[in-house]
Order: sequence, then C-alpha cells, then structure tokens
Amino acid sequence: MQLRRDPITQSWVNLEDEGEDHVHRKDAPCPLCPGQVSESAQTLYEYPGGGSIWQVRVTPHLHPIYRIEGDPQRRAEGIYDKMRSLGAHEIVVENPDHDVQFSRLSDENVAQVLRAYLARMNDLKRDRRFRYVTVFRNHGAAAGGEFDHPHSEVTATPFIPRRVGYELRSSSRYFAMKERCLICDIAEQEISQNIRIVEQLGRFVAFCPFAARVPYETWLLSARHHCAFEEDLTAWEDQLHFARLLKSVLKRLEAVSPTYHLVLHSSPNVNAKFQKSDNWRTLADDYHWHVEILPVIPSKASSYALKEVYYNSLLPEAAAETLRNV
Ligand SMILES: [Zn+2]
Ligand SMILES: [Zn+2]
Ligand SMILES: [Zn+2]
Repeated sequence: MQLRRDPITQSWVNLEDEGEDHVHRKDAPCPLCPGQVSESAQTLYEYPGGGSIWQVRVTPHLHPIYRIEGDPQRRAEGIYDKMRSLGAHEIVVENPDHDVQFSRLSDENVAQVLRAYLARMNDLKRDRRFRYVTVFRNHGAAAGGEFDHPHSEVTATPFIPRRVGYELRSSSRYFAMKERCLICDIAEQEISQNIRIVEQLGRFVAFCPFAARVPYETWLLSARHHCAFEEDLTAWEDQLHFARLLKSVLKRLEAVSPTYHLVLHSSPNVNAKFQKSDNWRTLADDYHWHVEILPVIPSKASSYALKEVYYNSLLPEAAAETLRNV
C-alpha cells in the first residue's frame, strides 16, 4: 500500500501495490466471534478487563489498510508527493454476540463502546506521527461493512482526511470573521427553528443538516461547545446519554435504511510532528465535534454526477419529520 497526494485537490489517496483482495468470505467462520482468529490478536483495549469475558474489545484489524511501524517516508516524484501507508487500523468488536444489532445493545454496552473510542483516540493521539484519528462504522454490506458481527473501526493517519480539512478551514475562517463557533451557531438555529430536529436528549441533539447530501443524512452533536469528543465525553452520565440518543436515532434510520456510514469528526492531533503551530491557534474555540450518519439508499441519484455534485431527492425537513414519527 502507498499514499499519493492529488496535486490539485491536495487530498491523499490510498493505492494498493499488488491489488490484493482481502474481502472476508461470507462462508468462512466469523473472525470476530469469541474463540475465532481475532481472539489471538493483540488486545488494544478490553472491557471488562482482568480475565473476565470481554463485552467490548479492540484489536488490530486483520487486513489493515495502514501499517503501524516506521516513518511515513514522505518523498517527491517530480512535482508529486507520496508516502508509505503508515497508520493504525483497528477493529472495535462491540459485543461477543454475532447476531445482535448495534442499536439493540443495552445503553450501558453502547456507552462502553463510546469509552473504547475515547481510550483509543487518546492513545493514538499520543503518537506524534499521526495527524488524525477517525472512528467510523460501516453498517451493512452495501455500506462496505466487512463483517456481519457488530463492529466499528478506528484509523490513525499521518494526514487529515479531506472532508475534515474542509471543516477545519471553514470553521477557523468563520471564527476569524465572527468570533463564534460555526457548529454552535448551526445547532442554535436548528434548535430554535425546530424543523430539521430528529430528537433531543439533554445537551445532545440530532438533526438532518440543511444541505443534506443524501436522503436521511443525520448529525448528532452536543449543543454545548467542545472541539474534541475524546475530551468532552469523559463522564459516564454523558456517555450514557449520548449512547441513548445514538441508539434511538439508529433505530429510526433503520426503519428507512438498513445500511449506513457513521463517522465521528473530532479535532486533529495538535501535537503531531511538523505541524505549523499557528494552524491551530483558535482550534479549541472554532471546531466542534460531531457524528455524521449517511444512510446508503440505492437510488437513481447514485449513478448521477459521480459525487462531484450531490443530488438528494429528499428535503431534510421531510426526512426529519419521517424520522421523528418512526
Ligand atoms: Zn461473529
Ligand atoms: Zn461549538
Ligand atoms: Zn463532519
């Protein structure tokens, strides 16, 4: 594997040297079930620990996109940039039971999964080679879910993913102009307009964004400002509340789409090597963590525009109303 940078958009692309296909065969035993291959993999995080049967467990991914050892070895090829696909790729097994749906796990179990995210994000951010840690869940085969077993993934990369890069730039620009956080302003307006809100629970809110890219796109966030999920969601009470809202939103979404991508956007690793220090001058005030859920709904729209322009056939106001009524 290697990483190459698109010289025009500046985004990094993963390229496989040998074109190896690691797709898990559906007839093979599930590697994530207790007693299967992942059991002998290194344990990066486990709950509960201390020899009792685990409920949540994090191990290195069996077929990682990134390799943890060494340096990125960034180098030029004429005007082009490339580097080794250095990084971490981990798998969070959310419950030992193969057949349970994530949204049907207990509130405590989902809160423990959030705790595992927190622990892995904090740990990976201590590695100064990594500029960004991503947590995501691909639910269902159509969303690229590799295993049926309930799981999510964590990656750490020596670059900031493109979409997060856009968010960071426009958040700091907005802050420079208004001295306010863009996402705080969005949350405040959504709560007061109350037409795209799906559900609210304590300080947490779920809504369909104004310019939703796909039908039923839904965001979850805290109405109280914080740039980093892994620093904000440290109290068990908050973890439980957020777990409850997440489960409820996923149940609503599952009624309209069984498959989805979920991604957690949090602040980048400010201690990474070679970071220009004034890049993050206002980060703590301008960036705001959130979860984005993008349902995968087969439609004629997907063949159109190759994602260069999003085409969504459902207004977010109508989507939020449907989800509220599930
Ligand atoms: Zn399994
Ligand atoms: Zn904010
Ligand atoms: Zn985002």
